[in-house]
Amino acid sequence: MFENLSERLGGVFDRLTKAGALSEDDVKTALREVRTALLEADVSLPVARDFIKAVQKKATGASVTKSVTPGQQVVKIVHDELVAFLAGEGEPGKLKVDNPPAPILMVGLQGSGKTTTTAKLAKRLKEREGKRVLMASLDVNRPAAMEQLAILGQQIGVDTLPIVKGEDPVTIAKRAKTQAGLGGYDVYLLDTAGRLHIDQELIAQAAAVRDVANPRETLLVVDGLTGQDAVNVATEFDDKIGVTGVVLTRMDGDGRGGAALSMRAVTGKPIKFVGLGEKTDALEEFHPERVAGRILGMGDIVSLVEKAQQTLEAEQAERMMKRMMKGQFNMNDLKSQLEQMQKMGGMQGMMSMMPGMGKMAKQVQESGMDDSIIKRQIALINSMTKQERANPGLLQASRKKRIAKGAGLEVSELNKLLKMHRQMADVMKKISQKGGKSMLKQAVS
Ligand code: GDP
Repeated sequence: MFENLSERLGGVFDRLTKAGALSEDDVKTALREVRTALLEADVSLPVARDFIKAVQKKATGASVTKSVTPGQQVVKIVHDELVAFLAGEGEPGKLKVDNPPAPILMVGLQGSGKTTTTAKLAKRLKEREGKRVLMASLDVNRPAAMEQLAILGQQIGVDTLPIVKGEDPVTIAKRAKTQAGLGGYDVYLLDTAGRLHIDQELIAQAAAVRDVANPRETLLVVDGLTGQDAVNVATEFDDKIGVTGVVLTRMDGDGRGGAALSMRAVTGKPIKFVGLGEKTDALEEFHPERVAGRILGMGDIVSLVEKAQQTLEAEQAERMMKRMMKGQFNMNDLKSQLEQMQKMGGMQGMMSMMPGMGKMAKQVQESGMDDSIIKRQIALINSMTKQERANPGLLQASRKKRIAKGAGLEVSELNKLLKMHRQMADVMKKISQKGGKSMLKQAVS
């Protein structure tokens, strides 16, 4: 799915004309694809529509950096907007846990990952912040849920409130509060009952618990794979209980995280954490730029554009690109390629950022090329005459000897350079035949 999206946007890049500023049409064309991408990533339609509208205003008339295409520029603008929007205010990964014992209320649907997340958070608070943590399960409907929390507590070395059969959630919450105070705990986490769907009873129960616990944080746990539904769940919980933050689980799966954007837009609540697996340490603070990249399905292109803006000399790169596409890749091109690479953190660094180029980066690595070699290779090319650079076919034994000597290196090293040049020229020819034009364009234009 990701590749298709990159390819499709690649197509947009090709269609857009190079211009000094983004025209309304350029922006519209690119944003149409971005809108589809958002919908594919499960962003709800009204949210996608509003978002695109806001970006359209920002992007139209924005100046295009010489070294990137208008399409890339649009994506960068969209990405930055998305990051700013997702990030919101407040520090991700931080919870209000001052004034011990600080109650944290965990709410969400059954199966969203609430109990697991409770344990993950407890572990994190204990290990990273040195807090003394108590956990209590309020799920009186499912004794198994209480057992599950107790087992997780043992695994992570965090205390759980002893289970007393027949108590109602409010009584358990009160007992947790007393126990947390007496036991000198800094934080206590209340894992409320979930249901498969929101119903009045569930909400009433959570509200009653909230009223006795007076939580410092109320965290809504939402399955990141649920997409659209997540928005309704979040709205309902926020309206009725009051949510201070969201934890998105199952972001290790295929989900694209569009739910994050929708929820943020509709509730305005910050996403604090992201669950990345079943284990108790698979919890991370929310990184808006990662989710933005995921939603767009092309995160790395953004960093490529950033680097290109910083370092690439557009005209030179474009000239070289044209030559490469025609299969005319000589030593002068290789030299400027090598010089650009030095600036951009080496060839592998550069290639690994390009969609579909990971394999080529590996080939480069296997050919034994690293950044210290780049310097020597440039020295070898400098030692060649103008004609030799333009036509490496001229290089027979005596010329090779002279060149190697001029660079203070062995002929074997020159042979490696020539081999690499041949390989690169081959790969480039293949890519151009396979229609990878847009990929290369992204790399060097
Ligand atoms: P609850 O009913 O909301 O308390 O949900 P649970 O905590 O029992 O989790 C339901 C299932 O989802 C369990 O099998 C968990 O191991 C799994 N789970 C929870 N969080 C994540 C996550 O971030 N990634 C993955 N892959 N699985 C998760």
